[in-house]
Amino acid sequence: MFHLILFGPPGSGKGTQAVRLAEKFGLIHISTGDLFRHEISNNTPLGQKAQDYMSKGVLVPDEVTVGMLKNKMDRSQDAKGFILDGFPRTIPQAQALDDLMCERDEEVNAVISLNVEDEELVGRLLKRGETSGRPDDANEEVIRRRLEEYKAKTQPVFDFYAAVNKTHVVEGIGAIDDITARLTETIEQIQA
Ligand code: AMP
Repeated sequence: MFHLILFGPPGSGKGTQAVRLAEKFGLIHISTGDLFRHEISNNTPLGQKAQDYMSKGVLVPDEVTVGMLKNKMDRSQDAKGFILDGFPRTIPQAQALDDLMCERDEEVNAVISLNVEDEELVGRLLKRGETSGRPDDANEEVIRRRLEEYKAKTQPVFDFYAAVNKTHVVEGIGAIDDITARLTETIEQIQA
C-alpha cells in the first residue's frame, strides 16, 4: 500500500497532477473538492451542507468532510493506495486521517507539496474560472479568501507531517509535463 497526500494551495495544480500520478502509479485519486461538487450537483443533503461554505471560499466543517472521506475510503477497499488531493486541510483532519489509517493498519507514506507563488495562483484561478464553471474560481475576493484559509488552517498540516519526516517539496511552476516528471521522480525516490 502506498498512500500519498498531494499538498499545496488552491491553483497549484494538485488536481491535474493527481489524475496523472494516479494513473501512473495505480492509485485511487480522492479529491474532497470533487466529492463535494458531485454531492452539490446531485443536490444531496451533504451537498446542501457544503455549498454555502464553498461559495464563500471557506472550509467545510471537519466532521462533514471527514465523514465523506471515510465513506469514500470504505468503498475503495481493494485499492493499491490513495492519492489524496485537497485533504487533509486542517490539523484535526490530519489527526482523523491518522486514525482512519491506523484502523486499517496502514499509514500516510508521503506528503508532496507543490510550491507556487500567490500572485501566480490568483492569475491561474481567475483564468480557470473562465472555463471551469466553478463559481469559487470566478470571483477574486473568493479566491483570496481561499488562499487565506489555506495559510491559516492548511499550511500547519505541512508542519504536522514534516515533524515525522514525511514531507517533500516540488516546484509547481513550468510546463505541466515537466511538473509531472518532477513528481514522478520524487515518488520513485520515496518508493525505492
Ligand atoms: P478544491 O476543489 O480542493 O479547491 O475545494 C473547493 C472547496 O471545497 C474548498 O474551498 C472548500 O470549501 C471545500 N473543501 C474541499 N476539500 C475540503 C477539506 N478537506 N476540508 C474542508 N473543505 C474542503
